Amino acid sequence: MEAGQRVLCAPGRQGRVSGYLARLAGEPPQSLMLEGGTADERETLALHWAGLLNCTTGEGRPCGACESCRQIAAGVHRDVIHLSGAAEAIKIDMVRELRSLMGEPPRGGGKRVIILSEAQGLLTEAANSLLKSMEEPRPGNVFVLTAPQRERLLPTLVSRSFVLTLAWPELKDGEEPGAEPEALAAAMREFWRTGRGWLARTMERGGVDKPLAERTLVALERELAATYVRSAERPATGVVPDADLLRRLGLALTEAKGALDYRVSPALVLDWLAATVYGWLRAPGA
Ligand SMILES: [Zn+2]
Repeated sequence: MEAGQRVLCAPGRQGRVSGYLARLAGEPPQSLMLEGGTADERETLALHWAGLLNCTTGEGRPCGACESCRQIAAGVHRDVIHLSGAAEAIKIDMVRELRSLMGEPPRGGGKRVIILSEAQGLLTEAANSLLKSMEEPRPGNVFVLTAPQRERLLPTLVSRSFVLTLAWPELKDGEEPGAEPEALAAAMREFWRTGRGWLARTMERGGVDKPLAERTLVALERELAATYVRSAERPATGVVPDADLLRRLGLALTEAKGALDYRVSPALVLDWLAATVYGWLRAPGA
């Protein structure tokens, strides 16, 4: 298998989503949003989609071997523009540049695919500018937005997108539900609720390594998504969580993940998250 094939190959456990993408490719939506899964899987599927729309063999999947596929895999295809909010915020200047580029037809025979991965990293002005681009569609251009959950993005961006949800990360071999990450996530929620338990919990552990901290963040993220679902399903109960607070919690999770990647001590990252959100919950007006 060539390198390009591996890069553009959809992750095996996301077969349902890659099947959808193959069917959508005949008439691609102007904007596609990929949520769920892991950040790597979302990015791989976004590139897979770019491959589907630009592969010159037309086999219903990116061949990975043609000039177009190899350029996409190498990140040098002229019609595949990739901005990522994972490491730094996506700023308005970047989106403005896209808008002028979109006025020109794609250079190759496929679609111009504009990927905004981890689009929760869009600053407000940049998100609004992107929205304007979506409101004045230009033939030949399509967008792909990726984010952990659709609720992390402006609702107006989501409503203009065709949303596909990837399968959630699976537990590792031998890992039981309720094992460490879920227990740490539960301890953190208990701390947010009562102000007790968290410090004792991390001290007793004596240390949290990066994989455990990452899986704890995934567990919290999964719960966050479930909270959104519950609030949407039972709007009449009057206990709808504060949408702004949930959004801030989502951003704090992203920031915590970024800090882990910058090698901040995993225990410190979790303590920061615990203390920050605890502070918000008790701030006047929260
Ligand atoms: Zn190809």
